[in-house]
Amino acid sequence: MSDNKEIWVFIEQYHNEVADVSWELLGEAAKLAPAIKAKTAAIILGKNINTFVKETIAYGADKVYTIDNPILGDYQTETYSKAFLKLAKKYKPEIILLGATITGRDLASAVATKLETGLTADCTALEINEETKFLWQTRPAFGGNVMATIICKLKRPEMATVRPRVMEMPTADFKREGEIIREYFTLDEESLLARVLDFIPADNTDAAQIEKAEIIVAAGRGIGSADNFGLLRELADLLGADIGVSRPLVEMGWMPYSHQVGQTGKTVRPKLYLAVGISGAVQHLAGMRNSEVVIAINKDPEAPIFQVADYGIVGDLFVIVPELINAVKALKSQSEG
Ligand SMILES: Cc1cc2nc3c(=O)[nH]c(=O)nc-3n(C[C@H](O)[C@H](O)[C@H](O)COP(=O)(O)OP(=O)(O)OC[C@H]3O[C@@H](n4cnc5c(N)ncnc54)[C@H](O)[C@@H]3O)c2cc1C
Repeated sequence: MSDNKEIWVFIEQYHNEVADVSWELLGEAAKLAPAIKAKTAAIILGKNINTFVKETIAYGADKVYTIDNPILGDYQTETYSKAFLKLAKKYKPEIILLGATITGRDLASAVATKLETGLTADCTALEINEETKFLWQTRPAFGGNVMATIICKLKRPEMATVRPRVMEMPTADFKREGEIIREYFTLDEESLLARVLDFIPADNTDAAQIEKAEIIVAAGRGIGSADNFGLLRELADLLGADIGVSRPLVEMGWMPYSHQVGQTGKTVRPKLYLAVGISGAVQHLAGMRNSEVVIAINKDPEAPIFQVADYGIVGDLFVIVPELINAVKALKSQSEG
């Protein structure tokens, strides 16, 4: 274990566009740091990466380690993990946080294996235990039926991945100052096992981006059939909301997976989450419990969704949703008139 107390956050970027989860994790690192008197540090690997170093400091990094090399232009497990390991072995961070994205998951496991340390994937909460100073890494376990808190007692660094939108987005402060440490890295391109020849982005034009939505109208099995979506769409359109769904609706083919909220779907953090005919199983709650305001409509007063709801309406959605639609229409015409 090292005395060099730094909490590292991997800044994930593609062609200089940073994934928001990196900023969310910098915000979280800044919250954890005082408990172990650590500094927060960002790790930026890539090609021509200077453009967002300042932004990284603004979002909470005390230090920024960079490796700017054309060989890191496109993400590859081999190049990125070797570059990351070079930094980790030299500077020995206490904690490393990465986004639980396709890239973050891949890199985290490669780095953890080489460092022979533990890695907790998909954490939903992180905390430094006051007494032991261990990082308490909480995540759903056994199909989401229990929340397990995991610690890494004997090895350092402690490593965790966290899904986008689980942690709060910090506010950027462009007056912050930080230290920039530029490191170098050489690798014989010929020695690489794989090379990126071309990058063809996935066609995501139809994929819902509900993780960024400010208002979500979410439907559960209570809506009865795919034909009843019209009602929810009308409400969603009036509110300028996106549509979310529970998993059974995706399994029945009523909605594409990109709309699924929950442990095996997306994590969302809207200002308003309107849960319609959703029971509130733990696996669903895992994806939406950080919403600012939750309104639940359910005919069963004992439905678990009411335990996380700020406002609950007990009743038949086919009566309540049309009433809500009329009320929103009336409010809109009042404000227009
Ligand atoms: C490993 C694993 C991962 C999972 N991942 C996810 C996930 O990511 N996301 C997810 O959502 N689920 C997930 N699930 C499934 C989860 O356990 C639940 O089965 C699911 O969330 C239930 O969906 P629901 O609330 O729509 O349906 P139900 O539990 O069937 O609830 C329907 C609700 O609608 C109400 N209702 C019925 N009719 C009306 C009406 N006319 N008006 C008002 N209310 C009405 C009922 O009272 C009931 O509460 C996962 C399960 C496992 C095992």
